[in-house]
Amino acid sequence: MPYIITSDCTACGQCVEACPIGAISVGEPIYVIGEECVDFEFCQIECDDDAIVLKSEED
Ligand code: SF4
Repeated sequence: MPYIITSDCTACGQCVEACPIGAISVGEPIYVIGEECVDFEFCQIECDDDAIVLKSEED
């Protein structure tokens, strides 16, 4: 699970369709990336709120 969604997420849903393997789903209260994430990076590019970061960059 290389990418995670931070609390900056506004739950807009833009990233969901960007993921070719459907790894992003609606969470409570923000969206979540599942363990199946294989680091395509498409979701991070799609997110206008910069809410998707590499797990290793989370602080
Ligand atoms: S695109 Fe960004 S702000 Fe929108 S649901 Fe995904 S992570 Fe949240």
